[in-house]
Amino acid sequence: MIHAVIFDMDETLLDRQSSLRAFAAAQHRAHPDAFSEVPVAHFVERFLALDNNGALWKAEVYQQILDENRITSLEPQTLVDEYIADFHRHCHPFAGLPEMVDELLADGRQLGLITNGRYPFQWHNFQSLGVADRFGAVLVSEHEGMRKPNPEIFRRALSRLDVTAETAVFVGDNPEADMRGAQSVGMRTIYRPSPFWPECAFADAVCTDLRQLPGLVRGFEASR
Ligand SMILES: [Mg+2]
Repeated sequence: MIHAVIFDMDETLLDRQSSLRAFAAAQHRAHPDAFSEVPVAHFVERFLALDNNGALWKAEVYQQILDENRITSLEPQTLVDEYIADFHRHCHPFAGLPEMVDELLADGRQLGLITNGRYPFQWHNFQSLGVADRFGAVLVSEHEGMRKPNPEIFRRALSRLDVTAETAVFVGDNPEADMRGAQSVGMRTIYRPSPFWPECAFADAVCTDLRQLPGLVRGFEASR
């Protein structure tokens, strides 16, 4: 029996690229004078390219965009503060999230989340997906003082759900942080391909649509 399914958030449940696009377009609209010479499409594309899947923190992203466009009427920190305060208003999940959650719970699974990132920023982003109250454990790395792939953060999530690694599955899009990390404590893994990591040869299964996930978890039980 699989007792728990634990998820990564960004690019696994939360459609981060699409959510970032929506946020950046709104931020551009909020500063019509400063960005009067910068087309919205250009601003959005530079924002995503410099973000590079979260590799560069937003203070540097904004500094670069302001420098490139010789904008001096805005401070990077103003834009960072808006990002921290408002990104969650533009966060949306991949298709099928509520149905998948319903089905996993109906099958008797507990749900958990482990996300690498800032707290409470990531917590607010998860809340905005509309399913957070159905998750028994939510771990944000900054709050926990450790990050994936540290095995301890996976053990902590398992402990909070009171399940063993052998009866839990981890779902994520990052081969090292998510798949290797979860496998290092003995969990089975389901890979979510993303534009940044299109494949992972060593995951136990692949899920391209969240609505497939309950069936993939049942498949682990059938193959035991
Ligand atoms: Mg991710």
